[in-house]
This record gives sequence, C-alpha cells and structure tokens, in this order.
Amino acid sequence: MSIEFKIFKFVHKIKIMSNTIEKIKCLIIGSGPAGYTAAIYAARADLKPVMYTGMQMGGQLTTTTEVDNFPGYPQGVDGTSMMEDLKNQAERFGTEVRFGLVTQVEFSKEIGGIHKVTVDESHLIEANTVIIATGATATYLGLESEQRLKGGGVSACATCDGFFYRGQEVIVVGAGDTAAEEATYLANLCTKVTMLVRRDEMRASKAMQKRVFNTKNLVVKFNTEIDEILGDKVVEGVRVINNITKEKEVVPVTGVFIAIGHKPNTEIFKGQLTMDSVGYLITEGKTTKTNLPGVFAAGDVQDKDYRQAVTAAGTGCMAALDAERYLGSLE
Ligand code: NDP
Repeated sequence: MSIEFKIFKFVHKIKIMSNTIEKIKCLIIGSGPAGYTAAIYAARADLKPVMYTGMQMGGQLTTTTEVDNFPGYPQGVDGTSMMEDLKNQAERFGTEVRFGLVTQVEFSKEIGGIHKVTVDESHLIEANTVIIATGATATYLGLESEQRLKGGGVSACATCDGFFYRGQEVIVVGAGDTAAEEATYLANLCTKVTMLVRRDEMRASKAMQKRVFNTKNLVVKFNTEIDEILGDKVVEGVRVINNITKEKEVVPVTGVFIAIGHKPNTEIFKGQLTMDSVGYLITEGKTTKTNLPGVFAAGDVQDKDYRQAVTAAGTGCMAALDAERYLGSLE
C-alpha cells in the first residue's frame, strides 16, 4: 500500500469516527474504467457520487503496462496513468473518491428503498442508488514463475498485450472460448501460436474450435500443461509436460497468455442479486439494471464476453444515466 493510500485511509477513518451513518445519493463500488466513467456522468448529473475504490485502486488496468487500444491516446498510455487521468476527471466534477472495501450489503427490494452498505466492516452507508463496478479477476495457474514474469511476457489479455508480440512466438493456455479467441487473434500477429489444452478435447464451442484448427500457424498440444515458465526478468521459453506420457519439452516463446477463465468479484452480492452460474451479475436487456431497483451493474462484473476498458467505460456511462433516470422517476 502506497503512502498516498495510507493517508487516504487514515483521513477516511477520521470521517467515519465522527459520522457513523452516512446518507449518499449515488454510491459507486469499484474504481476501474466502468466505475470512474459512472462517476464522471453521475457527478455531472449532480448525484454527488461517492466512490469506494476497493483494494486495487484503478482495477485490472493498473496491472497491465501499456494500453494501446483506448480511444484518445494515439501514442498509447501506461495503465496506471490512464486510471489516474480518469480519477482526476471524476474528481474534477465533484466525485468523492475514497480508498476502502465494501464488506457487506443489504439491498432493499422496494422501489425507492434505501440500500445499506458497510465499508471496511465499520462504516455504514445508506444509499439511494448503488452502481456496482467491482470487475473480474483473471484466473492464473498459480506457478511462482508465472507470478514473477507477469508484465514481463506473462499476460491474461491478448487484446491488451498481443501487439507487443507481433512477429514472435507465443503460448496460449486454456481450451475455452476465450483461449480459442485469443489464440486466433494472436495468430494474426505472431509467427506461431501454441495452444496448451490440458485434456484430450477442447471446451470451446465447435465453431471456435473450427477456427482454431483452420488457422495455419496455430498448433494445439492436447494433454499438455505448463511445467515451468523460463526466464529471469522476461519470458525466454516454456517447459511443457505431457500429462499422460510425462514427457517434457521446451517451447521457445517470448509471450505466455493465460486464458483459463475469470472470476467476477461478486461474492458479497450472493443471495441478493441475480447472477449466472459463474457469478457474473445479470442485467436487464440493454440496460445496467440488476434485479433490484436502484442497483446497477457496469463493466466486467456483468460482461464475460467483451471485457475491454472501453466497453466497461460505456456501461459505466449507462449505469449513471440509469441511476439518474431511476432517481428522477421517484420524484
Ligand atoms: P471457461 O471456463 O469456459 O474455460 C476455461 C478453460 O480453461 C477450460 O478449457 C479449462 O479446461 C481451462 N483451464 C482451467 N484451469 C486450467 C488449468 N489450471 N490449466 C490448464 N487449463 C485450465 O472460460 P472462458 O474464459 O473461456 O469462457 C467463459 C465464458 O465466456 C464461457 O461461457 C464462454 O462460452 C464465454 N465466452 C464467449 C465468447 C464468445 O461467445 N465470443 C468469447 C469468450 C468467452 P477444462 O476444459 O479441462 O476444464
């Protein structure tokens, strides 16, 4: 935790001590592109939004290096700087950004009801509207070498980082639709893509599998897993193991893309909000409305298909507009 966060948290605690139940018109949970965009729109609509950032201020983009696909940055931008820009923009219109973790929620089922939210297990908030933008977390294999080389050749997002590996050889781990999509995307940029599938068949849809098998520079290795990612500061190769024969070999690659699924950050909403079998929040039609009035969801927490900063920002905007309209309908 940086010194800035510590001061932030200390100031917040002082506020809590002097005011135990706080009333907020629009509470935003999460500080990725969805949360900050919701904050910009909500603040401009005079909803006086308060945002709780969560433990990873700025969200997933702060774990990537260069962001090259967000419109408006012709030279690309460092993920952390971009999130700082979004924060400054949200604050410019009056959003109060606070470092803290929402630990409990008790949503109202009534139209116009008050949503009770606890922050850091101690501070109680009563909110008229809540925008959930808590994102999703990429699943990793859990190898020490994988953690060490994150940002040095190991990535969980081909659309974010694939460009840096054009003309090179890479590995994709996983066998679902995401892995298939990432592998075919990378095959357009890289000289060779090796896809590691741990079983003797893929989970991806038949259509996606067809695309994989029809891509010339894409090789699928079945029953194969990563034994170790090689390299000190950057990826220099991957030692793979056939889990049937136990044979090992080194594949000389510079990039490793892990595509074994994401976990939406929705644990605290279980039992209150409708979600799919994986935990993604379900929203109504083209809106950001959850099953409860006054509670909206934006960004990766409700989107398993696109998961891009720009699509998250778009739904953040929609959530703020939906919240504004909801409050307007109560008057
Ligand atoms: P999935 O859960 O569908 O697939 C995860 C894959 O990772 C599985 O093949 C699984 O293997 C593999 N895996 C898990 N753990 C490991 C491990 N430790 N080592 C090696 N492999 C591992 O996740 P996706 O992200 O692919 O997809 C999530 C959802 O999003 C799905 O419903 C999918 O259909 C949807 N989606 C749709 C898209 C589209 O329609 N364009 C695009 C992307 C996603 P195993 O099969 O052996 O369990």
